[in-house]
Order: sequence, then structure tokens, then C-alpha cells
Amino acid sequence: MARKAYIEIDPERCKGCGLCVNVCPQKIIKFSKEFNAKGYHPAQQIDPDEKCIGCGFCYMNCPDTCITVYRIPKE
Ligand code: SF4
Ligand code: SF4
Repeated sequence: MARKAYIEIDPERCKGCGLCVNVCPQKIIKFSKEFNAKGYHPAQQIDPDEKCIGCGFCYMNCPDTCITVYRIPKE
């Protein structure tokens, strides 16, 4: 199946609150093991099976607008 969407999370602005992790219906956002400059484990998308549906729940729930959602148009 073709990839539908993906997200980018700005790791330096993320404060590791976990709202995006909890709200993602596909459970494809996890905390990084790395620390950012503020000392938080930033969220990152781990989506090897291309399950992101571009619903935007992560984007809508992020209090710091760290997330950008990219929807890939059908060919
Ligand atoms: S757009 Fe939807 S499916 Fe994709 S990472 Fe965000 S919450 Fe999950
Ligand atoms: S909701 Fe935003 S600030 Fe919170 S963990 Fe996700 S990307 Fe980071």
C-alpha cells in the first residue's frame, strides 16, 4: 500500500509532554532515547509500515505546534 502521510516533529521545540504519543490512533509516535537541548526526550514518528493516515490529531493536540503533517496526494 502506498504511503498516505507522514509527520515531522521539531525535536528542539518538543517538551516531551506525550499528548501526541497518546492521541495517535496508529500508535506510531514514540519518545526518542536522545535528549534535546532542553533536556526532554522529544517525540518522533516511527512508522516503518507506513501506517500514518494524516489525520492530524497529533498536530491538533501539540501545545507547542512542533508537528507538521504532510499528506501525500494519490497519483
Ligand atoms: S497524522 Fe494521525 S496517524 Fe499520523 S502520526 Fe499524526 S496522529 Fe498519528
Ligand atoms: S505534543 Fe508536541 S510537545 Fe508534546 S510530545 Fe508531542 S511533539 Fe512534543
